[in-house]
Amino acid sequence: MVVIGGGVMGSALAYWLTRLEPSISATVVERDPSYRQASSALSAASIRQQFSTPVNIRASQASIAFLRNAAVELAVGDETPNIMLREAGYLYLAMPGGAEGLRQAHAVQIACGADIALMDPAELKKRFGWLNTSDLSLGSLGLSGEGWFDGYALLTAFARRARDQGARYVNAEVCGFTVDGSRVTEVLAADGKRIACTHVVNAAGPWARRVAAMVGVDLPVFARRRTVYVISCPTAMNPFPLLIDPTGFWIRPEGTKFIAGFSPASDLDDQPLEPDYDSFESHLWPALAHRIPAFEAARLERAWAGYFEMNTVDHNAILGPAPSLENFLFMNGFSGHGMQQAPVIGRAIAELILLGRFDTLDLSDLLFARLAENRPVREANVIG
Ligand SMILES: Cc1cc2nc3c(=O)[nH]c(=O)nc-3n(C[C@H](O)[C@H](O)[C@H](O)COP(=O)(O)OP(=O)(O)OC[C@H]3O[C@@H](n4cnc5c(N)ncnc54)[C@H](O)[C@@H]3O)c2cc1C
Repeated sequence: MVVIGGGVMGSALAYWLTRLEPSISATVVERDPSYRQASSALSAASIRQQFSTPVNIRASQASIAFLRNAAVELAVGDETPNIMLREAGYLYLAMPGGAEGLRQAHAVQIACGADIALMDPAELKKRFGWLNTSDLSLGSLGLSGEGWFDGYALLTAFARRARDQGARYVNAEVCGFTVDGSRVTEVLAADGKRIACTHVVNAAGPWARRVAAMVGVDLPVFARRRTVYVISCPTAMNPFPLLIDPTGFWIRPEGTKFIAGFSPASDLDDQPLEPDYDSFESHLWPALAHRIPAFEAARLERAWAGYFEMNTVDHNAILGPAPSLENFLFMNGFSGHGMQQAPVIGRAIAELILLGRFDTLDLSDLLFARLAENRPVREANVIG
């Protein structure tokens, strides 16, 4: 098995392959072991149950169970990773026009057994005294199963345990494949290496479209830059969940500071990973200070930028083989919710390879085939 990309997805897959089938030969080809531009190293690493589609809610329920137990699951000898999971909840806010959408998503979430409560503005104000509720009509708060963690620690814990179980990490850039009929037989690296394979998995994150093009597949996944702003504020505010504002920004605590971001109106592909500093003052700060008046005294400390691997068809994962190639599988297009889904997607793709079907969680709604068959699974709750 050859996995292209050793970010959180490729490493979660390597972990599951070698855990479920210890005798397997699994090779992860990663061009940059420093992960300088990888989404997994630049992520806000938050997890929510508040999706609009049952398949994403079920994936998150399985993921939070894994994350709660990550220290045990991913220990190597006496070394237990600390992914610093904090279950402080997500708070979705709605103005009158958005309340119905929040109610509809809530009904789906409750039917799936998620622990989410709707709150009117008075309840919101009572719980979060620092919040301006004057223009709000509804809020939706995750009471458990939502929060954030250290995404880079999760990536390195998957990779370390995968190696310990026998996975091999190779530092090389994949530049092509040998294809025989409907099967890929070799992975070709820029340094001249050729790696024979029974299966290949595209785990190349925001660069997955380029890897797909090497086998003639048109993958609708585009690298869209997102800036994360690190902000300090002199006023203490507790409790503070991950807040999603109706105007489109998100903010959550990070240590003694906060991190925040938003979806840019002009969302071009492949922009250089330079943070968009100008938009803090012109766009984000006024919106923040409106929702949380204490942020009038906020200060921008620094910022970084990473790529969302945006599936422009339906904002959901694209999994499994493309119709044209039977042993080339995809795990791409997570559109901003890949970090939280990695434990579950890694297992699901390992099951597809080892058993030929999903076993622990049915993710067939997310198979690649849906694109060719024009059956999109639209996720309404895409953040930033
Ligand atoms: C700013 C930001 C905030 C985010 N916030 C959240 C969040 O709160 N919650 C959440 O769940 N998700 C979040 N995400 C999304 C999440 O981080 C990603 O979905 C996830 O990290 C994708 O992991 P990956 O392994 O697929 O991609 P990556 O981590 O990008 O890994 C892909 C790897 O493939 C390698 N590669 C590419 N091409 C080749 C090649 N040809 N040969 C060899 N190697 C190659 C790259 O070097 C890279 O290391 C966020 C992302 C960003 C950028």
